[in-house]
Amino acid sequence: MELEKNLTAVQQAIAEAARRAGRNPEEIKLIAVSKTKPVSLIQEAIQCGILDYGENRPQELAEKSSQIPQVRWHQIGQLQRNKVKYIIDKAALIHSVDSLSLAEEINRHAAKIPKIQDILIQVNISGESSKSGISPKDAETLCRAISKLPYVRIVGLMTISVAGLDDAGNYAIFAALRDLASAIAGQKIPGVLMQELSMGMTHDFSAAIAAGATMVRIGSGIFGARDSLK
Ligand SMILES: *Cc1c(COP(=O)(O)O)cnc(C)c1O
Repeated sequence: MELEKNLTAVQQAIAEAARRAGRNPEEIKLIAVSKTKPVSLIQEAIQCGILDYGENRPQELAEKSSQIPQVRWHQIGQLQRNKVKYIIDKAALIHSVDSLSLAEEINRHAAKIPKIQDILIQVNISGESSKSGISPKDAETLCRAISKLPYVRIVGLMTISVAGLDDAGNYAIFAALRDLASAIAGQKIPGVLMQELSMGMTHDFSAAIAAGATMVRIGSGIFGARDSLK
């Protein structure tokens, strides 16, 4: 009941933000971030029609996706190279690629399946030292290098805003990601798509949608406060 109510409220807020921005709400995919939440709650969300789920930890993604293989799983948290093997046959999209070495490891494992793994490049727009993500000035070079890997396909960019910013501050960060994606798209790097902008969480998704988000990653707004840290 609670979850259904939360979901409806989030979906309405997404639709409103889209309309305010003159966008079609259907352009925006809701990814329900289910980290720390039990499979039973995910099953409830599936009943409500949600078919995309995001996880931070590779092992948690692997575990839940083997129990619930019929939905799309998104690796949204930092991914260490030695954890790629847990998710390579399970992740529809990896949002958090920020180095060539990680992309090479994904390529190596994807080749064995074989599959072409869709990824997003995570960009650290704010430049906060604690955040993962490539710096904006190095993003195009990274895209060029990764574009040479046959089993990895870049489909867009991802970012995380900074805690504590107001709407205008969040919007500035998200608009910078959008502009970076347009600049990279303008380079027409073979095999590199700039279709997706994964940006916006529970507290800043309206600003992200105003700036052009195509995917929002919402956890606590749907499932309630996290059960443990992270
Ligand atoms: C946890 C997490 C989210 C969801 O955060 P909420 O504030 O609970 O909506 C989105 N993106 C990433 C990368 C996360 O780690």
